[in-house]
Amino acid sequence: MITEVTGIRRIRMLYVQLLYRCNFRCLHCFHGERLAWRDAYTYEQAAALLGLMRADYDLEAVNFLGGEPFLSEHLPALLAFAKRTLGLRTEICTNGFRITRQLSGCAPDIDLLRVSLEGLEEANDRIRHPGSFKAALETFERAADLGIATGATMTVTAANAADVVPLAALLQQRGVGQLKLHCLRPVGNAAAHPDLQVVDPVVYEVLYRRIADAGLRIEMIADEDLSPAADGAGCRPAPDTAVLDRIESDPRGNLTMSCKAVGKDAHAFTYDKTLGRIDYHPSALDELTLAVPDVVYSRV
Ligand code: SF4
Repeated sequence: MITEVTGIRRIRMLYVQLLYRCNFRCLHCFHGERLAWRDAYTYEQAAALLGLMRADYDLEAVNFLGGEPFLSEHLPALLAFAKRTLGLRTEICTNGFRITRQLSGCAPDIDLLRVSLEGLEEANDRIRHPGSFKAALETFERAADLGIATGATMTVTAANAADVVPLAALLQQRGVGQLKLHCLRPVGNAAAHPDLQVVDPVVYEVLYRRIADAGLRIEMIADEDLSPAADGAGCRPAPDTAVLDRIESDPRGNLTMSCKAVGKDAHAFTYDKTLGRIDYHPSALDELTLAVPDVVYSRV
């Protein structure tokens, strides 16, 4: 169905939000009130979606996220199915809170473990959850013991921009391979916390200068909307190509192509979890009609 409507023949990566449920209530979480929704993928539903994407769109990789994906009892079996049966590259986005025991059980099936952090301990624990910084460091340590490659993600806000370089240095020291920086978008909980929004572009100028001066070895990837030179240059129309880099399913099966549309109910396609097929529901406000650009990430 996606090919018929858009011409897209290959989709590189599928992000599957296994459930909305989370043990955190982060101040910037794009899910907002949806964190209380009970919708979740069963093993059969998620495995069928992965199989469909692999067969019809030549899928290469999957990222399991949530909510908190380690709260899904199906995560270990889905990782094994994705990796061993479908031959996909597997990634997880987690808050990394008290997951060291679970990690041991599924380590061979994880290609990359991404842990979200929002700065050093004080800023992180204020934005995310008390004790979450120390827990994330323990998770990195355990992952290293298990031979799992790790990365971190951070959403740059007015409350933590100064922490980016010291956090990157600390992660580098601990063998974390990459720090990926996101731009805060005012959806979900972030809409209720305008104080987190960066309003002065000088903040990004200073950030990029500090990164350049720090001479870090850790790979740094950033949403181009953070770039002081961006001024909208980070937005570009969906590339005219038959290959889509990513698509994301929420726990209800709604499929979103642009990161900038995630959390906004701007989907044009839905995976029907009961019938196991993708449906097209065009509307005046969907991401295709509105030509919502995707987020562009580049090396800093
Ligand atoms: S940002 Fe992630 S860890 Fe925080 S509440 Fe949202 S889903 Fe949970």
